[in-house]
Amino acid sequence: MVGAGLAGSEAALAAAGAGVRVRLHEMRPVKMTPAHRSGNFAELVCSNSLGGEGEMQSKGLLQAELRSVGGAVVGAADASRLPAGNALAVERDEFSERVTRGVREHPLIEIVEGEVEAVPEGIAVIASGPLTSDALAADLARLTGSERLSFYDAAAPVIDAESINLEVAWRAGRYDQSADYLNCPFTKDEYLAFFGALEQARSHTPHDWEQLEFFEGCMPIEEIARRGVDTPRFGPMSPKGLDDPRTGRWPYAVAQLRQEDREGRLWSLVGFQTGLKWGDQKAVVNLIPGLENAEIVRYGVMHRNTYLNAPSVLDSTLALRADPRKFVAGVLAGTEGYLESAGTGWLAGTNAARLARGLAPLTPPAESMLGGLVRYLASANPKGFQPMNVNWALVPELPADVNPKTGKPRKLGKREKRPVMFRRGLDAFMAWAGEEAGVPVTPRAVPE
Ligand code: FAD
Repeated sequence: MVGAGLAGSEAALAAAGAGVRVRLHEMRPVKMTPAHRSGNFAELVCSNSLGGEGEMQSKGLLQAELRSVGGAVVGAADASRLPAGNALAVERDEFSERVTRGVREHPLIEIVEGEVEAVPEGIAVIASGPLTSDALAADLARLTGSERLSFYDAAAPVIDAESINLEVAWRAGRYDQSADYLNCPFTKDEYLAFFGALEQARSHTPHDWEQLEFFEGCMPIEEIARRGVDTPRFGPMSPKGLDDPRTGRWPYAVAQLRQEDREGRLWSLVGFQTGLKWGDQKAVVNLIPGLENAEIVRYGVMHRNTYLNAPSVLDSTLALRADPRKFVAGVLAGTEGYLESAGTGWLAGTNAARLARGLAPLTPPAESMLGGLVRYLASANPKGFQPMNVNWALVPELPADVNPKTGKPRKLGKREKRPVMFRRGLDAFMAWAGEEAGVPVTPRAVPE
């Protein structure tokens, strides 16, 4: 296994827990990354939160799933938690020291210090993270094709389809293109209000080592706006070839959304890659007609990041299609976030151990958050693929509920349906882990 970060530590402990001997390579402290500060495993490089908790939260479901199989990262987080309302926040040094001890003390894990420069032979888990060293990245590019490895994130916000106002946004393609896009039309006044907010919005300040040189094709929308009031609407917001069915004419400007998943529950804003602060980003997005109440499930970001174009290269067991004895986990596998890294690490480690024991690798059930995430990675739209964090649109909707009074289908609100989706996901995951994957399961959805 390569990398003792969030994903690699979890993978090593999952495989060793299944009785398989593991050799874990970590380059720190011999060679540091620009973001890590210590030689500890599972170092949290920025925030100290592993996300919202409880049955309303998609991260809460993933935490519960990982707790039920004795996940090391979530276990260490529970043991070093700090008060943070409904979030799983931790004392960061204590957290990573706990993970480090757990890995170092495991009798089946051998730790090798130093950089790995090529993808190892045989069964392997590659979890070298967003700051994978250059030599290993070059070898990965050789194995997967260089166009399938990205070195930075230029991501646009992704929106939950349920929150898009389809009385305003309409489906169409430009001119004679097929109607694959959702189009949000602006009047001149709406455009000027949007542009004013975009001009005022604040950006994240990148670290010195992260200064990015943008290609014209993935310039952040705020940078495009800096070039003049009309630049966005002659660029990604061009209305050309888009007849608004309500007026029969081209609007003043248009924001387009492109489908990200097979079911059409996730849509990203085309050409809106952005490094705006999240609060300001939400305010700007909500000024787009049709997106007044948009729920952003993944914010736009611009930062250094090494990741694979997962849908082109991975299957839902996290194995590389080009060499199914190699598993990829964490940010490198196209996820975003500490918890997602731990979750994919657990699956990659479990599957690598299965393969070592002559068993077939598995995919968790679609209703579980881990199952939803890895299925998304394997099946998302490869065009402009961006790393994804967990969210409720990754798991199937509940079947339509029937209103007992009218006998007609009725739409459940979030407060009603999320606890049901939480229970459904956790039950499915635990049944799968215990019966199919043969992993010891404890029904410990909430920390003790
Ligand atoms: P890492 O935790 O980075 O682990 C990868 C490990 O591999 C590292 O220990 C590294 O030293 C090692 N390694 C790399 N190359 C080699 C090699 N060739 N040989 C041997 N070892 C190697 N996510 C959040 O949820 N919240 C945040 O606040 C957050 N902030 C972030 C800030 C920055 C600057 C970055 C870059 C990312 C951030 N992320 C954040 C995203 C991501 O969740 C974390 O980076 C997370 O640590 C990823 O887990 P990982 O296991 O994939 O990678």
